[in-house]
Amino acid sequence: MAGSKIGEMRFDGKVAIVTGAGGGLGREYAISLADRGASVVVNDLGGTRSGQGKNNAAADKVVQEIISKGGKAVADYNSVEEGEKIIQTAISNFGRIDILVNNAGILRDKSFLKLSVEDWNIVLKVHLQGSFLVTKAAWPYLREQKYGRIIMTSSGAGIYGNFGQANYSAAKLGLLGLSNTLAVEGKKYGIHCNTIIPLAGSRLTEDILPSELFDKLKPEYVSPLVVWLCHESCPETGGVFEAAGSWIGKYQWQRSVGKAYLPANEKLTAESIRDNWNLITDMSDCNTPASVQEQMGLLVEALTGSVTDR
Ligand code: NAD
Repeated sequence: MAGSKIGEMRFDGKVAIVTGAGGGLGREYAISLADRGASVVVNDLGGTRSGQGKNNAAADKVVQEIISKGGKAVADYNSVEEGEKIIQTAISNFGRIDILVNNAGILRDKSFLKLSVEDWNIVLKVHLQGSFLVTKAAWPYLREQKYGRIIMTSSGAGIYGNFGQANYSAAKLGLLGLSNTLAVEGKKYGIHCNTIIPLAGSRLTEDILPSELFDKLKPEYVSPLVVWLCHESCPETGGVFEAAGSWIGKYQWQRSVGKAYLPANEKLTAESIRDNWNLITDMSDCNTPASVQEQMGLLVEALTGSVTDR
């Protein structure tokens, strides 16, 4: 590896697992972390885009690439459904685990009418259950050492919905819920968990993105965000960040000020809701609660009338 530059974020002594690192975005994350000194477990099952078959070549190639530049990496060919085994690869080769990037993914796009139970199950199994199982196996190590950096990979489809992606959207938004709770539970143990929404030209998007966009949205433009979120100096946790073609931004939830009908037993009716629908759904002066505590605080304010009845 090239000598480190002053001010460069380094990962010397840290061990990172990147799932689905045999190609696309995961490959970039693995290479970037290894370039900066991390020992990396390059996990990849090596199946098709729709999750069929397996092949060791994908992970092997990335490991070779890292080693040829003087970095430290080991291949792992397990499916993310075998979370425990992936963590054991890190422990037996490098003795610890500091960083986990949950990235592996497949697609089974079908309109909802045509979506089979099998298409639903396999997408949920790889994305949501897989990220859960690998993270669950890593968690005791991170808690014990009071340090960890976890990334969950969501998608615009999870946030907004997307035609033909009911299974994928459900899994991807599930990952955001999982990440948010791990951020809450991990805080006092120095474990940070953030969610990313990447967009990049890869095997997954080659027939989805328009060709002029595909070439601009290079996977290597997403990895700097992942490197930053995985670094010990990054204070973020419980965040959702989007990265695409060198654009980086953050998401937050909005909740309208709404309207309380007090006293409820006299004023709350379906008709009163209909008659105030514009006010109830008015987002012009909205709140942005960032936790259930903030949400409850706003609710209590509204229900105790400390906010003027409107
Ligand atoms: P990709 O197909 O290039 O890479 C995914 C990798 O995961 C593949 O190498 C594949 O072999 C591996 N994989 C699949 N199932 C696995 C399993 N069960 N166990 C271990 N490895 C497995 O796709 P990509 O575009 O690099 O996507 C990476 C992640 O980013 C996915 O979670 C995807 O849903 C998400 N994402 C990508 C985009 C995008 O624009 N490319 C947008 C939103 C979200």
